[in-house]
Amino acid sequence: MKLDWSARGRARVWLLMALGTLICVAFAFAIDSFDVATGRWRWGSDPVNNFVIPVLLAPPFFFLLLDKMRQLAVAHTELMTVASTDSLTSLLNRRAFTELVDGYLKRVEESDRRIGGALLVIDVDHFKAVNDKFGHTSGDEALKLIAQTIRDTVRQADLVGRVGGEEFCVFMPGQGRESAEAAAERIRIAVTETEFAPGGARHALSVSVGGVAFEDVSPFSDLYRTADERLYAAKHNGRNRVEFRLQDNTSPRAVLH
Ligand code: GH3
Ligand code: MG
Ligand code: MG
Repeated sequence: MKLDWSARGRARVWLLMALGTLICVAFAFAIDSFDVATGRWRWGSDPVNNFVIPVLLAPPFFFLLLDKMRQLAVAHTELMTVASTDSLTSLLNRRAFTELVDGYLKRVEESDRRIGGALLVIDVDHFKAVNDKFGHTSGDEALKLIAQTIRDTVRQADLVGRVGGEEFCVFMPGQGRESAEAAAERIRIAVTETEFAPGGARHALSVSVGGVAFEDVSPFSDLYRTADERLYAAKHNGRNRVEFRLQDNTSPRAVLH
């Protein structure tokens, strides 16, 4: 039998139960070995009190307690995952994405380190027409496909969230302007190459991307506003394109990679 040492498995419960029982035996033995009347130590000699009772009572007590704690920890983790995940695409939902990015930016600001990065806001082009033409279920399939394409195109360390109906965000910590803009372009191209074929015939999907790079941390709301304004420009300039800029408050020092 293979022991499962993960937080979900019971191996830790068994180990802690054994340790807890040993401590109880040692404790009972220590109490029996101390003569209160004389204040001296002697060799404890009552096996029932020192060994039998702790070995009978401690394991079920520790097992029940520790296994309940394990179940609670697993349930808590699952709840946290459900609460932070968008159910359609399995990306981060808007609240989780915003909190994670905001928290990251605040930590960087407090640490006085100088770390740049970039934020992309991605909106599906003419998505209403997809729903109207193929139905809402096929529209959902298109959103899942686009979400997976974005996730597969960026780095593991980048955060990807679905922040609106057909709007996604990517946060790229430590990424300079050029590489972030190139990543945005890769996403744009990858979406145009997705195989979305509701009812058999392929339908071309596309996204518009607004992006902002920063060299000194800015509040998330400021970055989002700039990226969203760039997205608006991308839509205005014909869609299926990337519009990018450097955040205004950035000083002229070099971007850290
Ligand atoms: P634009 O290029 O200007 O972005 O045009 P658009 O049609 O994509 O934009 P618009 O904001 O008019 O429409 C967005 C559509 O996205 C409307 C809404 O029904 C659809 N939508 C939002 N959330 C979902 C969803 O979860 N599933 C599906 N299937 N459709 C959704
Ligand atoms: Mg749209
Ligand atoms: Mg939209």
